[in-house]
Amino acid sequence: ELANRMAERVADVVKSLMQNGIMATQTQTIDADTAELIIEEFGHKVVRVSDSDVEQVIQQDEDKASDLQDRAPIITVMGHVDHGKTSLLDAIRKTRVVQGEAGGITQHIGAYQVTADNGQVLTFLDTPGHAAFTSMRARGAQVTDIVVLVVAADDAVMPQTVEAINHARAAKVPMIVAINKIDRPGADADKVRTSLLQHEVIVEKMSGEVQDVEVSAVNGTGLPELLEAISLQSELLELKANPDRAASGAVIEAQLDVGRGPVATVLVQNGTLKRGDIFVVGEQWGKVRAMENDQGERVNEAGPSVPVEVLGLNGTPEAGDVLNVVETEAQAREIAEYRQKAARDKRAAAGAATTLEQLMANAKADENVAELPILVKADVQGSAEAITQAMEKIGNDEVRVRVLHSGVGAITETDIGLAEASNAPVFGFNVRANASARNTANQKGVEIRYYSVIYDLVDDVKAAASGLLSNEV
Ligand code: GDP
Repeated sequence: ELANRMAERVADVVKSLMQNGIMATQTQTIDADTAELIIEEFGHKVVRVSDSDVEQVIQQDEDKASDLQDRAPIITVMGHVDHGKTSLLDAIRKTRVVQGEAGGITQHIGAYQVTADNGQVLTFLDTPGHAAFTSMRARGAQVTDIVVLVVAADDAVMPQTVEAINHARAAKVPMIVAINKIDRPGADADKVRTSLLQHEVIVEKMSGEVQDVEVSAVNGTGLPELLEAISLQSELLELKANPDRAASGAVIEAQLDVGRGPVATVLVQNGTLKRGDIFVVGEQWGKVRAMENDQGERVNEAGPSVPVEVLGLNGTPEAGDVLNVVETEAQAREIAEYRQKAARDKRAAAGAATTLEQLMANAKADENVAELPILVKADVQGSAEAITQAMEKIGNDEVRVRVLHSGVGAITETDIGLAEASNAPVFGFNVRANASARNTANQKGVEIRYYSVIYDLVDDVKAAASGLLSNEV
């Protein structure tokens, strides 16, 4: 491989290695320092691929304001189980997506686009729930512009509603409340609005700023109004992108298809993805062989906010992986290989990622006020609230503790997902993590700490915070 890259003969490289006291064979792996020595001996220039090189290849220059054009908002639907997320997504898709001429079955590709009455195109991510949302964010992809929070009008704010609110807040994404099941006999929209107040979500009808729309996924009531509310919110966000550049985007879902090989649904975030483009995506690379849109039609290109299914990958990426178009296959391969190696190294060193001490050390590097994000799970609501309040008092001018989410019950995988995405440790008060959460935490290097005395918990966080201050140079 080394001989190949230098365009030298293998025998000469082996000979040179031997002259340097390394009895290597043709297929043996040599370390980077040795390789560097040999390369110099042959009079070639060494280029070591590093994080910053990788960054440079895929770095995109800032877009000029004049190149920017409006793009469709990208929407994720979140809310408590059974409040109607899936039904709402289906209802929106059914009423708005024009069936293809062939009348074929519309293929599910993980996202779809619809048009509001005012002509605004909206892109919906078709995987409801915050597990998808946080796992994407954990991988570095901030894909969502607007969260639609679904709350059933015959129910109220439930634990996962609160989680969804906290997820949206942590990602700094604006929310629109869809009060669903308004057709139900027991529907009480005002009760929902009032219960949202307790979580500092003040909807317009309560003189707040969060738009709220009463809808029914079953009979279609309020759907046009919901789309209009989204459109209005997106105007406020002034979402722009430059279609005239090499594409970048995020993987929404990917799988290995028996007939077609690895397939990924990519949401283009900037630029235009074209057939024949060479790209890296996470630890994989590829060349766009074919693309299909959300209607299952073949397309040759996809601009900003457009979801497409991409064929031509060399491996299966993961949801949340970022895709970047690069110039040459050699670059694409090199970056993918570099990332694969880096990921292997990281896995080897896993377990030490998100400890409280490390977080403090990281926070310290930040020039502004260091913010320590944490998650709290407790056995009863009273404890969760008491801990949250105590935590939020710990801050001073330099360090601030921020409770991303506090809730009642065992520590779950969702908690770990949010913790990972925000680089936060999880504090369990008289509760444990369930088995799958423990496994995920181990894998992702998220720290879980258990307590049964509030004072101990507060003390530990305080100690870490003051330790940070006394370490200051
Ligand atoms: P998800 O878990 O949030 O995705 O909820 P689903 O979409 O699966 O809906 C849960 C249940 O509520 C299903 O039985 C739906 O038929 C029902 N449902 C959803 N939306 C409505 C609605 O607007 N009105 C009524 N009456 N039922 C609804």
